[in-house]
Amino acid sequence: MIHTPPTARLRLVACAVAALAGAALPARAEQVIALAVDRDDSDDDGISDGDQATDVPTNDAAELVVPSIANEPVTVSVLGGLRVVRGGKVVPTPFKLRPDELPAPLWLQATEPSTGSRPLALLLARGEEVTRKPLHAVDLTFLDANNRPMRPALQGLAISQRVTSDASLPRSSDHDVKSRDARNFRVQIIDATATGKRIEAVLESVAEGGQARHAISVSLVRADTSQPFRSRFVRLVGDHVDRDARGVGGQVLLVGLRDTVRLVYMSGGQRIEQAMRVSRPGDELSPIAARQASLRLFVLRAVPGGPPIIGVDDRSALRLVREEIASANEIWLQCNITFGAPAEVPIEIVDPPAAGFIAVANRDGLPARGGVIQLRADGRVAPPIAIPAGSTAMDTALRIAEVLGTMGFDAQVTVNPKTVFGAAPGADVVVRRRNGKLALIDAAPGLPLTTDAQQRIDLGVVDLGDGLEEFDNMTASSGTLEERMLIKTLADDDPATIDLFIINRFTHGTRQGEAFIEASAGAIGNAVILDRTGLRHRETAWTMAHEIGHVLLNQPLHPDNVGRDRPWLLMDSDNNRGTVNGPKRLTPEECAQARDTAGAPPGVLKPYDERSAKASRKD
Ligand SMILES: [Zn+2]
Repeated sequence: MIHTPPTARLRLVACAVAALAGAALPARAEQVIALAVDRDDSDDDGISDGDQATDVPTNDAAELVVPSIANEPVTVSVLGGLRVVRGGKVVPTPFKLRPDELPAPLWLQATEPSTGSRPLALLLARGEEVTRKPLHAVDLTFLDANNRPMRPALQGLAISQRVTSDASLPRSSDHDVKSRDARNFRVQIIDATATGKRIEAVLESVAEGGQARHAISVSLVRADTSQPFRSRFVRLVGDHVDRDARGVGGQVLLVGLRDTVRLVYMSGGQRIEQAMRVSRPGDELSPIAARQASLRLFVLRAVPGGPPIIGVDDRSALRLVREEIASANEIWLQCNITFGAPAEVPIEIVDPPAAGFIAVANRDGLPARGGVIQLRADGRVAPPIAIPAGSTAMDTALRIAEVLGTMGFDAQVTVNPKTVFGAAPGADVVVRRRNGKLALIDAAPGLPLTTDAQQRIDLGVVDLGDGLEEFDNMTASSGTLEERMLIKTLADDDPATIDLFIINRFTHGTRQGEAFIEASAGAIGNAVILDRTGLRHRETAWTMAHEIGHVLLNQPLHPDNVGRDRPWLLMDSDNNRGTVNGPKRLTPEECAQARDTAGAPPGVLKPYDERSAKASRKD
């Protein structure tokens, strides 16, 4: 966008008025219009604005009105690298404007920078008289880590995966210095009118909605006038801890997914700019194309009907959780993955489930020796359920479900992975009324729940009074009865959603979060349980981002469990520092794994900010 300074704007207005009145142009010293060479992609269509033939974006073009004078035709031609755009289309020059087409607004777009030997001008010829409108084109370029010009229509910027203040961000502004971190970039300006060895510009990040996010001043220098001006390298970061990292002031710019990063330069008092986007549009397959993972969150109440386990009331609980989602977005921006606008992520505040859950052969997976199960559902005594000797947990669960089905209940059976020392897999039955609410299940009055001497039948209750019983080495593959009940009664069946539960604490306090991932082939997949204390230490642990990482990476282990300790990694298990050295970095390999459909659970990642979707919205 070109913001014409007030004086120039007045002049243009005056011209238009003069043109309408059919009077001659005021004979006044013309201010040279400044332009950026238009190589960015303002309409994000994958074609450089300067190469586009139709619907040419005019963000970086200058408008000029050809006035009507004495009813004469005007021949328009150009000197130097200029394109003329009229009604969105490039018009080959020279061309003639008839008197009835005047006054005619034209857009001028620069394709080459001005040099001392190559002036840029628009020429308007009326008969013998030629009016020359000089322009000045400045080259504003983003350079990659190897000082190669970047192509905004085909490439994107991305936040660094390195510790912000480490040595892979060069501090020098030498012309030839390169960056070891391939995600760092610098900017270069070629301005034929600039004198001296230093010029100033601004880099600013603008969010998708148009709000300014962050801006830094950058100095660009050159050793002699034969060189272009170059800045130091700049590193993009996703959160304020990295933005405020020590020792790298002026070289760090805060951004969000699909932000626009603008290089803004004042030439002759006129603001000109070129821009690049963070990541690529979601319809692309590039490793930095934007992706979204679907999250659904559940905040538990300590007791049914009680206050949520975080915040002082429902509203503050929602606010805290949304802050946490924003923080997870900042971390996963490293892989160009978002969980969506925090305000749009579904969050429910729910009672701990207290009914409707029957576990068969919990933990041990033992078969039946033979017996009778005698249940009551919503106060109605069920017919006795005979279980033959040798029945597996699944056999028994299916019989229970069948009987409850005949009573009008919806009973769903799921089989759990075998526990480490279990004989066979256990099974669970979730029992609901027709309206979806969990049914109250208990033993028939005066009778044992089961007469089987070996196969356990347990009725589930999630009681957060003592916290949530966490899995141990033996139950890691299946989860504890309480965990299974929490997840199976509340989570949806959609494998493309990550369900996240926030609880008060784990009973034995052995962890702050746990993840159930598809790799373990259990009935529970893509679920995360977080202890609220993990949230209180926000940014000292990045707990939510870490636990979601287990799901997205399909990886139950921590890198420090299997290799050398790299405490700066998000998936590290033993670092709690809230500094730039904290556990928050994702490696390129991890991003590739999370983005690969073989790594991430199928369907969890979807294109974000697709160009095709935008185009169809326009229609
Ligand atoms: Zn972990």
